[in-house]
Amino acid sequence: MALIVQKYGGTSVGNPERIKNVARRVAEYTGRGDQVVVVVSAMSGVTDNLIKLAKEIMPLPSEREMDVLLATGEQTTIALAAIALHSLGIRAISLTGAQAGIVTDGVHTKAKIQNITPKQVHRLLNEGQVVIVAGFQGQTVEGQITTLGRGGSDLTAIALAAALKADLCQIFTDVDGVYTADPRIVPSARKLQEISYDEMLELASLGAKVMQSRSVEFAKKFGVVFEVRSSLNDNPGTLVKEETASMEGVVVRGVSLDKNQAKVTIIGVPDKPGMAARIFKPLGEAAINVDMIVQNVSHGSGSPSTDLSFTVDKPDLLKAKKVIEGLQAELGYRAVTAEENIGKLSIVGVGMRSHTGVAAKMFDTLAREGINIDMISTSEIKISIVIDLAKGEQAMRSVHAAFVG
Ligand code: ADP
Ligand code: ASP
Ligand code: MG
Repeated sequence: MALIVQKYGGTSVGNPERIKNVARRVAEYTGRGDQVVVVVSAMSGVTDNLIKLAKEIMPLPSEREMDVLLATGEQTTIALAAIALHSLGIRAISLTGAQAGIVTDGVHTKAKIQNITPKQVHRLLNEGQVVIVAGFQGQTVEGQITTLGRGGSDLTAIALAAALKADLCQIFTDVDGVYTADPRIVPSARKLQEISYDEMLELASLGAKVMQSRSVEFAKKFGVVFEVRSSLNDNPGTLVKEETASMEGVVVRGVSLDKNQAKVTIIGVPDKPGMAARIFKPLGEAAINVDMIVQNVSHGSGSPSTDLSFTVDKPDLLKAKKVIEGLQAELGYRAVTAEENIGKLSIVGVGMRSHTGVAAKMFDTLAREGINIDMISTSEIKISIVIDLAKGEQAMRSVHAAFVG
């Protein structure tokens, strides 16, 4: 008998037929005597719709109220999934994040899990129930509803697997596993049998939305091995773990494209010590994640000034712009602009540590496609560039062809 945590994403619970499919899959495991905890997302499109509704009322709604609103998506699915299991004669009970003992900090819309007390889950499992937990949500110690950031049901599943010391953690989605690139954009992408936490983490944080990046961070920290696989067939998926065979031999494991970034440029920032700190500290305090930062060379001789660009997640763009505008009097910069039509293209691979010429090959590939590079950033195991969004998919296919084949 094994304790298994299974997560089903939005498409996998996208309609009543799919929810019944989930129930049938769970039944296979309970039929063998396994204990199953099921984490579900909101039905596909539901979270986006709720966000749209709120923004039709007000462009920058209260984040506390957004959490109350968004948590309803997953709450619908847990009840429907429980009902689907009941219809097969299987005992099952739904729990909200709070009922499952998921305690978070109070950073609304991107709360971090502080601890999980899975007493209730254990008790219900021991009573012979399938426990269905709402993904993506938790509660602060004061009892406020929180959500864990987009894609956060992955985190719920991995954190529960760690807290319950599950024997198996399976992330069921609408593709067969983790591919060398998004198979919907790059038809020649290959499914990976396995991938290391570090590579998965980079791919995920660089836009491969197949896994939420924070969930991979959590899995790495607590050593949760998990499998990404399809809810629509029985093909083996991709194992995500610490070490994989031939890690250094493969230079580029995958290519990702993040269409969800936006660029803020502050024009005419006085070039003197302390300016960057005065810009990025308030952004951090507003819980805005800043990714790439580029500062141009100084221009002007009397009182030199410089242009500073940085990228943020698109949903944070308005908030970031507001923070920067609030600093204009204090900093004395000339203007601020926001650009949404950018894409961040990245190549990722642990093998880059021990290979040279990788960046040159990437730039050369783009040059041949006539694609202009706007910003560049690198780490030991990745290279990212910002380009025009309209060229993003074309660039992704050619870079994939150049490195992965
Ligand atoms: P779920 O609703 O199950 O959480 P998501 O839509 O969040 O599913 O993630 C699955 C999607 O991720 C796939 O449909 C695929 O288009 C996309 N994707 C992006 N990059 C990759 C990749 N490298 N491998 C597999 N899928 C990817
Ligand atoms: N429903 C949430 C979202 O769409 C969480 C998830 O699906 O994992 O982001
Ligand atoms: Mg997802």
